[in-house]
Amino acid sequence: MSTSDPGPATARVRRQPPPFRHVEVRRVEHLSPRMVRITFAGPDLEGLRVEPAASVRLLLASPGAGGLVVPHWNGNEFLLPDGRRPILRTFTPRRGDPAALELDLEVVLHGGGVASEWASSCEPGDPAAISGPGRGYTIDAGAPAYLLAGDETAIPAISQLLGALPLGTPVQVHLEVARPDGRLTLPRHPRANVEWSDLPAGARPGDALVAAVCGADLAPGTRVWAAGEAAAVQRIRRHLFDVLGLPRSQTSVRGYWKHGRAGDADRET
Ligand SMILES: Cc1cc2nc3c(=O)[nH]c(=O)nc-3n(C[C@H](O)[C@H](O)[C@H](O)COP(=O)(O)OP(=O)(O)OC[C@H]3O[C@@H](n4cnc5c(N)ncnc54)[C@H](O)[C@@H]3O)c2cc1C
Repeated sequence: MSTSDPGPATARVRRQPPPFRHVEVRRVEHLSPRMVRITFAGPDLEGLRVEPAASVRLLLASPGAGGLVVPHWNGNEFLLPDGRRPILRTFTPRRGDPAALELDLEVVLHGGGVASEWASSCEPGDPAAISGPGRGYTIDAGAPAYLLAGDETAIPAISQLLGALPLGTPVQVHLEVARPDGRLTLPRHPRANVEWSDLPAGARPGDALVAAVCGADLAPGTRVWAAGEAAAVQRIRRHLFDVLGLPRSQTSVRGYWKHGRAGDADRET
């Protein structure tokens, strides 16, 4: 063992995520040129409960693996039998149907990733596996107001939150889309004010979202839920904590993906 090898005594051990449930694609629906809804189905979905803004990990077949191979947990990460990292990406479990044993994921077709490319061409019968769900967001029904903010990857979670927030609570919603045709019809909430921003050509992902959140008027006690590109949500955090002085207990801000970096990651803060 080299001197720089921390050895087994100090190796990081993480709690094993929930086991994989085998599923197959049952339906595919294009919601916009930028978003596809994939309905997965299978008996393994028995008992899977969907909360707003939760997460699941989607396992896809790796090239050359001869089909879908379920990886093993080595105490820190999932690995395939040949030592490679599996194709594993995190999505929002958008709708579960316990009777039909179905689960919908809504995937952004951003064009540059394995999951996005798979989603753009998957067909009924294609195999996959799902691990989860991870924890969802607990709504504070007594909060005086909510601000929900995100990019396209947060549309599924924000749609769920809009459907779950008390009907009398005022809600500001700020969404950034990479292209105008990425806008979708959101569930109706009587007190919601929804503002869409287009990302200007050449701008960094999240620039329009950060500007919208920084320009928002927040009544005292407003709860903030935000998710999107990691560096952009870091700028949102700085605004909320350093400029507005919001207590962290009033906010949930998550990086959902990182510009220029592929892969699954635990990006909660
Ligand atoms: C809790 C949680 C919930 C999520 N929910 C959803 C969801 O419901 N729907 C959804 O589509 N995504 C969701 N995401 C984000 C999704 O996991 C990432 O976008 C993921 O990287 C997509 O995998 P990929 O294989 O398509 O791209 P990767 O192979 O991971 O990345 C390839 C390249 O594409 C870039 N990239 C990744 N995502 C985007 C994007 N959206 N726009 C532009 N460039 C991108 C990367 O920076 C990288 O350069 C969620 C993430 C988390 C943590």
